[in-house]
Amino acid sequence: MATDSPAYRPATLLVQGGVERSPFGETAEALYLTSGFVYDSAEQAEATFKGEIAHYQYSRFGNPTISMLEARLALIEGAEACRCTATGMAAVHAAMLSHLKAGDRVVASRALFGSCHWIVSTLLPRYGIATSFVDGGDLAQWRAALATPAALVLLESPSNPMLEIVDLAAVAALAHAAGAIVVVDNVFATPLLQKPFELGADVVVYSCTKHIDGQGRVLGGAVLGRRKWVDEVLQPFIRNTGPSISAFNAWLLLKGLETLALRVEAGCRSAAAVADFLAAQPGIARVWYPSRADHPQRDLAMAQMTAGGTMVTFEVAGGKDAAFRLMNALRLVKVSNNLGDSKSLATHPATTTHMRIGAEERARLGITDGVIRLSVGLEDVRDIQDDLARGLAAVSG
Ligand SMILES: *Cc1c(COP(=O)(O)O)cnc(C)c1O
Repeated sequence: MATDSPAYRPATLLVQGGVERSPFGETAEALYLTSGFVYDSAEQAEATFKGEIAHYQYSRFGNPTISMLEARLALIEGAEACRCTATGMAAVHAAMLSHLKAGDRVVASRALFGSCHWIVSTLLPRYGIATSFVDGGDLAQWRAALATPAALVLLESPSNPMLEIVDLAAVAALAHAAGAIVVVDNVFATPLLQKPFELGADVVVYSCTKHIDGQGRVLGGAVLGRRKWVDEVLQPFIRNTGPSISAFNAWLLLKGLETLALRVEAGCRSAAAVADFLAAQPGIARVWYPSRADHPQRDLAMAQMTAGGTMVTFEVAGGKDAAFRLMNALRLVKVSNNLGDSKSLATHPATTTHMRIGAEERARLGITDGVIRLSVGLEDVRDIQDDLARGLAAVSG
């Protein structure tokens, strides 16, 4: 298939990468909504199960629509192989549990998505896996934690919600010296803005629920890595534990990928403008946006990423009361804990996504009660700014 060529540029791969046409020659990717597959003969079934011939068996193991999504994601990421899952958390869980065993050690950055934090802090220790957290932006802490052998490093950059940047190349070098594989949750950067494999990552995971769908419709996840690891470590785990994605959701995600570059580019442009707008407002104590000169790790962010992303985090002077007043006065921007959507969404992390980690951990991460996380969507940026001005007027009024 000529369109599978990795020589094509990302925008082309997003639209045509990985397409496998049926004999009917359909234009759009075919949706194979089937649980099972039939064989020409008992002999063909036997040969399939022996691994002598390539034939789909059962959609828990593989499905042509899902395979197209996996092929397209692998091409965009520059990965040897990809497996998709029902959710982003299923992807993180499968990437970690397929690789780990009792007695192993995991080191993770503290600033993780809430459920990733739970897996590291609560689930893994139950199975005899030792875990420790470091402040992701502090290389000295990584160095200390990785001075003893480890099996796996999990990190997120930029982090949710404070947009902290981890030095991927430096941490990967330390992790590899300690014997660990590096798993990067690349959701905030999207497959377009940051290439973790080029910086030393071994595995990249996505919640496809976010920018890859980008239209608030379905859940999905992806794990990308080397062919040998995916075939020998990840695939048996997925095949036998069943976190498989629906072919229907995979089909919607293929359609989402077709517009990913346009959406991310527009979202980044608007987010940068919104960050500058907010920074100029009197009621705002602080703004975090990776490409702004006042981001504490701006140089590192721009060395690793090609743009600042679609997320802006800011702190309203006046704590929870002011943050709630601002959010309740918004009419265009919706209050929601989702992100990466075409609709602009505002979240109060301290009382929602990061409530369960507790006040002490929130304080360590800098998530104060005045912090609001904004996922900038595809509306006209002037309307988003007008809405935020309305919110700020409600704080001071
Ligand atoms: C949303 C998210 C996840 C989890 O993905 P789901 O699809 O909701 O399961 C993991 N990591 C990050 C950074 C996320 O934003």
